Amino acid sequence: MSFLTADEPDDADVDLAAVGYRCDHGDCTYTTPEFPAYRNHLTRTHNVQLLQAEPWMADGACRNHPDAPWLWFPHQGGDTDTPKAICAGCPVRQQCLTYALDTNQTYGVWGGTSERERRRIRKQRRAS
Ligand code: SF4
Ligand SMILES: [Zn+2]
Repeated sequence: MSFLTADEPDDADVDLAAVGYRCDHGDCTYTTPEFPAYRNHLTRTHNVQLLQAEPWMADGACRNHPDAPWLWFPHQGGDTDTPKAICAGCPVRQQCLTYALDTNQTYGVWGGTSERERRRIRKQRRAS
């Protein structure tokens, strides 16, 4: 995952900053002109976890994707094939997966894996 860091958005997000921050996760239509309020909404309402920026995140295929972050944080039972297909061609897929496992990312698609798939990987690691 590479699009939501705990810092203020960088240049890549300038357009979004100009029009305000819009949430279109499911039926949610929350909009705010301020990044901090939007950030709070994401974490409290949608369980989207915010990260300290890591160097590899700059190269993530999801970084400037128009449907990020929602495509990577589907509702329960939602589509994970579409984000996973994008992850498959991502140049930092392995770093992303390692990071998600190391930091115990519970929600969302990371490094081409769903929540359930990462649970299985963790279980296998513990067993070996
Ligand atoms: S592997 Fe997927 S979630 Fe991770 S940075 Fe790449 S596109 Fe984003
Ligand atoms: Zn919302």
